[in-house]
Order: sequence, then C-alpha cells, then structure tokens
Amino acid sequence: MVVELINTGSELMLGRVLNTHQQWLCRQLADLGYVVTRQVAVPDTAADIRQSVREALARADLIFTTGGLGPTSDDITRDLIAGLLGKKLREDAAIVDEIKKFFAGRNRPMPERNRVQALVPEGAIVLANPRGTAPGLAMEAQPNPFRDGGKPSWLIMLPGPPRELRPMFTETVVPLLGHVLPLENKFVCRTLRTTGVGESSVQEKIDGPLGKLVHAGLELGYCAHMGQVDVRLAARGDSAEKIVSEAAAIVRAQLGSAIFGEGDDELEAVVIRQLTERRQTLAVAESCTGGGIADRLTNVPGASAVFLGGFVTYSNEAKEKFLGVRDETLAQHGAVSELVAREMAEGARRASRSDYAIAVTGIAGPTGGTPEKPVGTVFIALASGRGTEVWKMFNPWDRLAFKEVTARQALNQLRLRLLA
Ligand code: ATP
Ligand code: MG
Repeated sequence: MVVELINTGSELMLGRVLNTHQQWLCRQLADLGYVVTRQVAVPDTAADIRQSVREALARADLIFTTGGLGPTSDDITRDLIAGLLGKKLREDAAIVDEIKKFFAGRNRPMPERNRVQALVPEGAIVLANPRGTAPGLAMEAQPNPFRDGGKPSWLIMLPGPPRELRPMFTETVVPLLGHVLPLENKFVCRTLRTTGVGESSVQEKIDGPLGKLVHAGLELGYCAHMGQVDVRLAARGDSAEKIVSEAAAIVRAQLGSAIFGEGDDELEAVVIRQLTERRQTLAVAESCTGGGIADRLTNVPGASAVFLGGFVTYSNEAKEKFLGVRDETLAQHGAVSELVAREMAEGARRASRSDYAIAVTGIAGPTGGTPEKPVGTVFIALASGRGTEVWKMFNPWDRLAFKEVTARQALNQLRLRLLA
C-alpha cells in the first residue's frame, strides 16, 4: 500500500513551528503497518496545496493532509480538495450544532466565520473533534481522475493543532483504516525500550541471536534518543505474531533489566508505578539537573501519591540550608563529590520523611571542569532505609543533553534498586 503525507502550513516553511505531525503520524502509521513512503510540507497557498494533493492522488492509496481546516482565510484545504475532486460542499447541521456547543461551553457565541468548518464535501466521512471546532474529513476519490485506470485513493484531512490531531487519529482514524483500507497481510509490531546501554552495545547483544528470525521475516530497528535506545520488532504475514513474540523473548533474555518498558512507556512512569505498587515515597535533591527530575516525575498522572517534593539546591548555601550538607564536606571535597551527593540525598530524605531520596550533583559545563573532575562528571546518590549508595557517571555532552541524560540515569538507578 502506498501511503503519503502532506503537511500544510506556511509557519512550517518559516521554521516557526516544528513539524511534529510528520514524526508523530509516521510513527503511529508505521507501527500499525502502514509505512509512509513520501512526505512533503507545503505553504498555505492554493497552488502549492493543490499541486501536492494532485501529485499524491496520482500515486497513493492513502493520503493524509494536516492543517488548514480552521476558520481563517489561510485555511483552505477542505475547499481545495473538494474542488479538485469536483465535489460540492454542503453545510452539515450536526457539525454546526457541535461548533455552537463548543463555544457555548466557553460562554461565547459562535463567530459566523466558524460556519465554514461545518462544510462537508459530498460523500465525505466526518471525523469528530471533541477538542476543537474543525472536524477532520475522510473521503474516497473513486474514480480517481488523477491516477492510472482511475484507481481509487483515500484522502484523510486532519486539523493542524497537535492536541486535536492526535486523539482524532487514535480514536477515529485507526478504526476507520481497519474498516476501509485493511492491510493485506497481518502486521505485528512491538517496541522494547532500554536505558543505560549504548546503541552499539544493544545491537551487539541482540543482532546475532535474532539473525535466524530476521531471515524468517523479522524487521529489526533501533532508535536512539538521549540515554535511551528503543528496539522495534515487526513482522508481516500469518507467522507475524510468533516471530515477534519469539524475538521479544530473545531481546528480554539478552538485555534483561536494561529494558524498562514497552511501546510508549516512559521511564518516570515506570518508577512512579513501582513506588505506587510498594506504597513507598520519593523526594529529590537536584543541583545540576535544576529540577529536571522533579519535572519528569510530575509529568506522570498520579505522581502525587508517591512523589513528596524536590529541592533545587544550586548554591553551596542552599545545599547547607535546605539539606543540611556540612560546610566541611563542601570545603574538603567540593560541591561535585561523592560525599556531597550522599549528604544531599540523606538530607532530602530526612527533611521530607520519604522512603527514598535521589540526589544529583555534577558539572554541566561548558566551563568549571578540572583535570580530576572534567565537564560531564556527575554523582548520583540514592538514600533509603537500607543506607545510601553513590554512583559516579560521566556525561560529557552539551548542557541540555547532560541534564537530560543525568535525570534519566538518576531515575534508572532508582528503578533498578526497586527491581532488585
Ligand atoms: P485552526 O482551527 O487552529 O486554524 P487548522 O486545522 O486550520 O486549525 P492550521 O491553521 O494549519 O490548522 O494550524 C494550526 C496550528 O497547529 C499551527 O499554528 C501550529 O501551531 C499547529 N500545527 C500545524 N501544523 C503543524 C505541524 N505539522 N506540526 C506541529 N504543529 C502544527
Ligand atoms: Mg488554521
């Protein structure tokens, strides 16, 4: 099946907005077995949108457009596509009601302009948008005037705002695809997420053992983020389920506790889940991550059940005042040291009366390094009722990457302890 994606929006061409739809939709579609073969971004001008849609209609079985369904004069996708396919637009009373309700819920009358969002090309399927006013649209070009032999294509138009597009895709487009454009072969895909092991080590450990399954049709892919490597396992056909589950078992055996989750699991969510199951609590004391660990933890719904609080203690004075780090320790060993990390974690645990406390102190750079403690040096401490452990890490990356990797490592140390 040929699948293409057209992202519209002049803001994309100006570099004002990052084209996250490209990545998000390609990822979702690939994991469902619909791999996008071509993607273009075009400005909101009639000529560009028309040309890109016409070209896609000549090639693809399934075409997605994003953006341009709003009420303003630069929102012309709906109009242009209806025009290209020679379909009349008619106002859908049910959509007008939905839009009125949307505004009533915000105590505002519906601006007349928004009425255009209720226009539906003849024969199109309306995709509800509970988070916004513009519904998505799905229609089949049948016969397709732009394709050899008039072969049909499906066109799916999605709204621009990510918070509207994503749930619409998951809730309405996925079921619709299964219905109108089912895959010819069964497709199975699983992603195992690892942390604490570099991409090449992950590959070294599993490439060999998976060789036979790759021969049998396993698609094996790696995706490295900062401090995290995802292993994607996919297969098509009748034996897909068997191939992927055998592969997952091999990856689990080879990588063991480096695997923290599957699919879209996030490390911080796993840690919150572990603590919730044990009814235990956590506090954090952060120097070089500047609150990044607390930020991640509080992204997780339900974090309040286990996460008590955090201290961002950047100066020596703050480390002494809020965490009880001793003056002598700081003077003798320096703020970036095993002992200071230890006293920070113990101080945070004492002050918040938590079961666990994590502390981090390090040199993010670009300045401040010494021969003994170069930029990238970091100490991570974990205090609990069973004592305190400290790990020394080396993350010589740029400042933001350093913070991200360090926060991840700290959470991972806690995860590993909770597993043991
Ligand atoms: P609206 O009703 O908000 O006008 P729309 O369907 O007309 O919605 P656009 O006007 O094209 O969509 O885009 C609305 C906003 O959505 C943009 O300003 C931008 O912030 C965001 N957006 C659009 N396209 C993308 C994209 N490809 N990636 C990420 N964000 C996007
Ligand atoms: Mg718009």
